[in-house]
Amino acid sequence: MKIAIIGSGLAGLTAAAYLVREGYDVEIYEQFEEIGGVTATIHKEGYSWDIGPLLLEGFAPHEKFGKILSELGLTDKIEFINDDRGQSFPDFQVWRPKEYEGPYWRREFFKKLFPSESVGLDKYYEFYDHMMAIMYLGNQLPFAKGLKAFILKVKILVKFMKVRKFKDWSAAQVTDYFFKEQKLKAVYLGILADMVVRPSQFFGLGVPAFNVETAFDKRIPIQTNYGKLPTYHYIQNGCEQLVKALADFVTSKGGKIYTSSKVTKIIIENNQAKGMMLENSEIIESDLILASGGVLNTFYNLIGQEYLPNELISLIENLEYMESVFFVNIGIDFDPSSHQRKALCYYYGTYDIEGAIDNCISGKYHEGKDGFLIYIPSMHSPEMAPHGNHAVTIYTIAPHKLDEGDWAQKGEDFAEKLLIEAEKYIPGLREHIQTKIILTPDDFKSRINVIRHSFGGLAPIIGQTGPSHRTPIEKLWYIGAYSESGGGVAGTALGARNVAKMILRETQNK
Ligand SMILES: Cc1cc2nc3c(=O)[nH]c(=O)nc-3n(C[C@H](O)[C@H](O)[C@H](O)COP(=O)(O)OP(=O)(O)OC[C@H]3O[C@@H](n4cnc5c(N)ncnc54)[C@H](O)[C@@H]3O)c2cc1C
Repeated sequence: MKIAIIGSGLAGLTAAAYLVREGYDVEIYEQFEEIGGVTATIHKEGYSWDIGPLLLEGFAPHEKFGKILSELGLTDKIEFINDDRGQSFPDFQVWRPKEYEGPYWRREFFKKLFPSESVGLDKYYEFYDHMMAIMYLGNQLPFAKGLKAFILKVKILVKFMKVRKFKDWSAAQVTDYFFKEQKLKAVYLGILADMVVRPSQFFGLGVPAFNVETAFDKRIPIQTNYGKLPTYHYIQNGCEQLVKALADFVTSKGGKIYTSSKVTKIIIENNQAKGMMLENSEIIESDLILASGGVLNTFYNLIGQEYLPNELISLIENLEYMESVFFVNIGIDFDPSSHQRKALCYYYGTYDIEGAIDNCISGKYHEGKDGFLIYIPSMHSPEMAPHGNHAVTIYTIAPHKLDEGDWAQKGEDFAEKLLIEAEKYIPGLREHIQTKIILTPDDFKSRINVIRHSFGGLAPIIGQTGPSHRTPIEKLWYIGAYSESGGGVAGTALGARNVAKMILRETQNK
């Protein structure tokens, strides 16, 4: 059976790995000249920068991607660096203490900063513990079968009863319930700005999931009495190492990966996918197709609206996306660690998270004023910069389309403004720049071939699910960050793995 996969991001590569190891004839078609989608690492003059995820959740053996790597026998092929990050607000910074102060040190830290919030903080962390238990059990579910799966479901239900009242609450309602001070609410809602999802639209039960304490102190033991906590890792020498491990696995088992091969049409006969057409008019015949990539391009251009039922068109028309990102990658010739003590810190410039997200969604770029992150990968992977120098990424959320002017016109000026904001925390950046690469939303758009760029795919908002993996066209599956699995490294990969498993079950039963 010949299976063609569109796209060599984590979705395409993961699905390919599961299918190729069962002996299927798998071919991946990637439109860009390099593989990896947004999990690529770019290089210039001895410096390397990731263009996508930085500190990743889900790679420990008890977590989704950790389990995928173990199923594929790839755990030893990638080096992970367990780490944590800082958070900076206009009036205070949150860095893990020099001496370990226990798993709830942030709770006590915030009690000192906001004494009137002590009761709320205690209550929030009870809620947090219940949610961590539910997340742990939920993460085991896709990998369990039979009685084990049943017991897990019962355990989840029992735990869920403890947080049931928050089921339909938004993140804004949940933080309003626990806290009074806007500044404290911003601590727990700030990460939503990273996804450009309004607190009023994000599900309240997700607040602890995006504020896991191990992200702020890696010394917190992951084993608790209710299960294991999520963990956070960098990939040594950049995300491309993960891409390479998966791609090497695919090709070592006979799979083929073609770069600079843009798919322009999926050929459909009698409502069945028969093959694809490439930009150079070459026809690729196949028995099955798995498409990843942007939802509009896939469904409207590659498939065509005439093949889609009205409900699917209406779902696509109403989808809400995350916004885009604006990157300034620089190489510098000094050590910035006396100004930023760890590789990653999020710098927030406002406590009004909802307002800042509103502006971004309406096309107003904040020019760095609302916040950004500074990531210095060469602090954990010295090979990512020439000896003694450092690779630095300053990035922030940005509208995919500006309300005034365009990115091509404004990119350079915005890069300078972002650097000026970053210099408030790491002085002297601009005078020490050795090299620079700016990536605007337009650059991302063409790099991964999407009509509407969204840095992580569909926005995780209450009530939204993307188009299902099983499309209305027979023998055509949809995977990736815009599909029902949603965005994010571990979730996207798990969705692709699940599709591969469904295909294996269905084809092997025939
Ligand atoms: C800046 C940034 C930060 C992020 N941070 C995090 C994070 O901290 N944690 C987290 O979990 N996730 C994060 N994400 C999100 C996560 O990386 C993505 O959701 C996930 O990697 C998407 O994988 P994918 O395979 O669906 O898509 P992609 O990586 O976009 O891959 C799709 C591929 O398909 C190719 N393609 C598209 N159309 C065609 C065509 N017609 N023909 C051939 N090829 C085609 C594209 O070129 C691309 O290579 C981040 C993303 C970005 C950009």
